[in-house]
Amino acid sequence: MEERKIPYKIYLTEDEMPRYWYNVRADMKHKPAPLLNPETYQPMTEEELGQVFCHELVRQELDMETPYFEIPEEIRNFYKMYRPSPLVRAYCLEEKLKTPAKIYYKFEGNNTSGSHKLNSAIAQAYYAKQQGLRGVTTETGAGQWGTALSMACAYLGLDCQVYMVKCSYEQKPFRREVMRTYGAHVTPSPSNTTSVGRKILAQFPGTSGSLGCAISEAVEAAASKEGYRYVLGSVLSQVLLHQTIIGLETQTALKKYDIHPDIIIGCAGGGSNLGGLIAPFAGEMLRGEANYQLIAVEPASCPSLTRGKYRYDYCDTGMICPLQKMYTLGNGFIPAASHSGGLRYHGMSSIVSQLYDDGLMEARSVEQTEVFAAAQEFAKCEGILPAPESSHAIRVAMDEAIRCRETGEEKTIVFGLTGTGYFDMVAYGKYNDGEMTDYIPTDAELQHGFDSIPKFPGNE
Ligand SMILES: *Cc1c(COP(=O)(O)O)cnc(C)c1O
Repeated sequence: MEERKIPYKIYLTEDEMPRYWYNVRADMKHKPAPLLNPETYQPMTEEELGQVFCHELVRQELDMETPYFEIPEEIRNFYKMYRPSPLVRAYCLEEKLKTPAKIYYKFEGNNTSGSHKLNSAIAQAYYAKQQGLRGVTTETGAGQWGTALSMACAYLGLDCQVYMVKCSYEQKPFRREVMRTYGAHVTPSPSNTTSVGRKILAQFPGTSGSLGCAISEAVEAAASKEGYRYVLGSVLSQVLLHQTIIGLETQTALKKYDIHPDIIIGCAGGGSNLGGLIAPFAGEMLRGEANYQLIAVEPASCPSLTRGKYRYDYCDTGMICPLQKMYTLGNGFIPAASHSGGLRYHGMSSIVSQLYDDGLMEARSVEQTEVFAAAQEFAKCEGILPAPESSHAIRVAMDEAIRCRETGEEKTIVFGLTGTGYFDMVAYGKYNDGEMTDYIPTDAELQHGFDSIPKFPGNE
């Protein structure tokens, strides 16, 4: 057996923690396409975006050249309450799989919100506060983002209004109560409190909702209230920027022990944790300094990278958000009610989409029963009860480690373990009772979604 020079957990000291977020777009030769105004098809201007988002966040969203953004001291201090997150060597999993591969995971579940989302929530709330706003509105799918934002807003004394995808609102009452405990107002979406919500309800009576619908409602709510702006928990480049704290910490931790990863894996909903984890490594690839195998993992029920189209599309179902060029299933695609709420999104970050289109990254889709099998195996040997979303990355990390067992390769695998699954016990219950099913949309169903992608010159 190998000598255990590498500790189970690699931590960083406060002095080693990143002081800057990394903007990978600065190193990309092919920049992500700009956001477009849905009426004029011209790039969105700072003023236009400033009506929906906070000024500083708009600046971050539009900047494709500045490689590093300093993390304000107040945010760094907040980070210190729950960061650095540990980089864990999965010795027990390696042993169980009898693999020569070395497996590491970056665990983001060590905060009350239970996921990486707090990294961007505190940044977005901070800039809203700086701008003198009264509050923010947002959507939440599985509930992790809403919880994270509620915590950040409570800390800074901002009002927080959350539109929660209806199926999660019903499946996860405890998430809702955590948010309310932190002082947030939570509304199931689609709701009749907004005109776009009423329209969606009329068109799809009894719908269990989707992230796309909830985004439309939250945007409308922000626009109709004085002193409010909308904030989004994924997809946007600003969110990916804040999430680079994950990849930067990982990079520093690996360097401390001279570890060179071969494969880096993340689950992909809107692409923020994946993008944040891989960004510094993709940067090295883009600058020609190193090479890595980067893998995005998505649910087979919502396969935006593996089966989607690279087009301009709306980020929301109500078609009121700017157009973003991304891998998309179409804004009209409503994914099956799977148990990975955080991955039920029709589109993908424009940065992740461009890296994928340029061949810097690969993507795989996995079905939920095999994901839960991996989750259970992981929980039994590594102790942590993982979120279903995170378990998509576990599945592929295990598959790669098993492949190494067969080939004898001693690859180093790093994956992002984005959160804990304590609020997903209904899903685990279904799995334990043998009642979980897999759903893979047919080509005809996907075509229905593709038909909702807007058609204009250059977007065919
Ligand atoms: C939201 C969420 C995801 C997916 O979101 P990304 O923006 O793709 O990172 C993954 N895991 C957990 C635990 C989440 O809460």
